[in-house]
This record gives sequence, C-alpha cells and structure tokens, in this order.
Amino acid sequence: MPKVLDIVKEPAKSLRKPSQAVDVAQIGTPEFQAFLDDLGETMFAADGVGIAAPQVGSNIRVFVVNEKDKPVVYINPVVEVLSEAVVESEEGCLSVPGIWGIVPRAKKIRLKAYDRHGRRIEVDAKGYSAIIIQHEFDHLQGILFVDKMTHATKGTDKKAV
Ligand code: ZN
Repeated sequence: MPKVLDIVKEPAKSLRKPSQAVDVAQIGTPEFQAFLDDLGETMFAADGVGIAAPQVGSNIRVFVVNEKDKPVVYINPVVEVLSEAVVESEEGCLSVPGIWGIVPRAKKIRLKAYDRHGRRIEVDAKGYSAIIIQHEFDHLQGILFVDKMTHATKGTDKKAV
C-alpha cells in the first residue's frame, strides 16, 4: 500500500537545493517504484495537482502530475520552451502554504523525460498543464513560485502544486 509522505514547507533545505538526476537503471527497482507510488499518494492526499520529490525531502529529479486523476510520473525531465508567448496565472504551492500569486510562464513547452517504466517520453503541453509542469520543474532547481511571482493574490479555489 502506498504511504502518504510528509510534505516539507518553506524554509526546508530540500526546497532550495538543486536535485540530482535519477540513475535510470534504478527506476525499475521495487524501492524506487514504491517511492513513486508514495509520491503520487501524497499528492492526492494533499489535494494537489502536482508534486515534486524535493517537496517530500528527496532531492532527486522526479515529479508527479495529476492528469485526469491519474498520477503521471516524470523522471529526469528537461523542459524546452516552444513559444515566446507568456501566460500569467495564479499559483500556489503545497510547500508554501497560505501564499498565492501571479506567475508568468511560457505558454507552450516540450517536456522530455523518462516515465515510471524507464521509457523515454516527449510531451508537448500548453495552458494549465504547461504551467504545472514548469512549476514542478522549478522545484528540481530549488526554485519556488514566490521567486517568480509578480504580485500576491488572495488565492482562489485553484489547487496547489
Ligand atoms: Zn510547488
């Protein structure tokens, strides 16, 4: 059974450290697969739309995104910006509770990564899903949305990532 992990909050050190690449040969191990399940379970338990490994104190290059209520795992991701267009929207973060703000993000991106089976994948994303991916990718660099937000907002019912 997957476990719900503790989500670390600002100013936890793991949120501010660049994360290390995952050894692709380790992806199939039971321990790593269990970690992926736990990370997804933690995201759902927190009612989040995404979560990155540093948010549970693990500085490895992994994040999970809620795609149609399924946890989709991205390992060793690389993000390429596909358009110069920028979208601004309100973001929140499971690791920065109580703060919401407007963050400019690239409108269209391409994400290259390994999936949970160790297969190479490539996904083009735009709009809200591109925003979530960029937010999670920033976590792997030790960057939080508050570093990029132009101004604070009151917060809506939008879910945190
Ligand atoms: Zn976050």
